Amino acid sequence: MYKLSRYLVISDYISSNARLLYATRAGKYVVIKDSVLDLLQAGRFDEIDLKTLIPLFERGVIVPEDADEFEDILRHNKNAIRDSQALGLIIQPTANCQLGCHYCGQVHAKRNMSGRVAEATVARITSKLALKNTRH
Ligand code: SF4
Repeated sequence: MYKLSRYLVISDYISSNARLLYATRAGKYVVIKDSVLDLLQAGRFDEIDLKTLIPLFERGVIVPEDADEFEDILRHNKNAIRDSQALGLIIQPTANCQLGCHYCGQVHAKRNMSGRVAEATVARITSKLALKNTRH
């Protein structure tokens, strides 16, 4: 049996009786009629024809009833990190960002990276590169 994915976004109406259903895990969307959406939300999957149901499954709108999607996402992310051959780093050479985003927690000071911090940054990158089979 199936259940609705926990990771869906349902749009407002795009026509008189249809909406967009966005499956965020798969990054896919479907156009869905209200009548089908009502059945999905009521868990009445057996009343939906296979021609409609299969694409919903393929796009991650519905998932197996025993699926633990949160665990699946964690496992997927951990595997991607473990298997990654890319090293990603963000280096901020100054604390004096001029953008002033309202959510920023950084103290904006007119300070640039010191030579000591630059050397420590290079050492950290070098050690990270030595730990992983990094190609990118
Ligand atoms: S979050 Fe802070 S540091 Fe980042 S761009 Fe915005 S103001 Fe600058």
